[in-house]
Amino acid sequence: MEETEFIWHGGKLVPWREATVHVMSHALHYASSVFEGIRVYDTKEGPAFLCLGSHMRRLYDSARIYRMEMPMPQEELEAICHKVISANKLRSAYVRPIAFRGYGAITVYGSQDPAEVSVAAFPWGAYLGEEASEKGVDVGISSWTRLAPNTLPTMAKAGGNYLSSQLISMEAHRHGYTEGIGLDANGNLSEGAGENLFIIRNGVLHTPPLTASILPGITRGITINLANRMDLEVREEALPREALYVADEVFMTGTATEIAPIRSVDGIQVGAGKRGAITKRLQEAFFGLFDGSTEDTGGWLEPLSNG
Ligand code: PMP
Repeated sequence: MEETEFIWHGGKLVPWREATVHVMSHALHYASSVFEGIRVYDTKEGPAFLCLGSHMRRLYDSARIYRMEMPMPQEELEAICHKVISANKLRSAYVRPIAFRGYGAITVYGSQDPAEVSVAAFPWGAYLGEEASEKGVDVGISSWTRLAPNTLPTMAKAGGNYLSSQLISMEAHRHGYTEGIGLDANGNLSEGAGENLFIIRNGVLHTPPLTASILPGITRGITINLANRMDLEVREEALPREALYVADEVFMTGTATEIAPIRSVDGIQVGAGKRGAITKRLQEAFFGLFDGSTEDTGGWLEPLSNG
């Protein structure tokens, strides 16, 4: 991780190395944290957040699901995110706001004090490597099933959910894959350890629905919108594992991952074994948002204040 100068922590900007928590903090023992990953892009018009409002809405939704009281209104935290980018003089960044139950009660139930909030920002290139976005990556289906409905809520982006992601991702790496794909409790496709999943067959996009234990991805939403604008049909529906093997194209979406083609699943080549034509068009439309070649009809870009 590339360190920057300041992190918002305990109600103010502090030097990166001083943004620490007590070892007896509730979140460290019981994973009682909710967080976000947001990108700032260096656009033609200057640095801009991509979908800051949607990410913040999801953070406050995650806190609500866990009955966690946020110490400030959403707009205030959005302003803090702007402040962290400006203070660190970043033109592009990955922004990581986190809210967590801090030091106080060690009971599982925890203290009902408002959550503690920190916001860090740092430079972060392509999550799956620069090559991945052109050549595609090799993935495998995990032996670990994703969180079952009514166990851990996947609409919340909560620290605890990433124990599942860690098992899936560690197994994938052990088997030589770049990423692992989880199946839901019914054995249908769910998502990657940190990405949503899209399949293309006969020109139609298919993606697992919210009921397949997925995180409602912001990049997934952007991708569906961009596909609709290209008059491509998008179906959110339950998909069997083998739909991956017989797809023409498969790709993953995520804030860190952006849009990454998949060239093989479980050692079976997907389509021509390289990025497909529709995936490429969607990538171009996505990255076009930042050089202005794609119109931002969704109002997704929010210019950095004082940027
Ligand atoms: N699923 C999981 C489990 C994730 O961690 C992420 C990354 N936040 C995604 C999907 C993609 O979501 P988004 O596009 O909002 O980053």
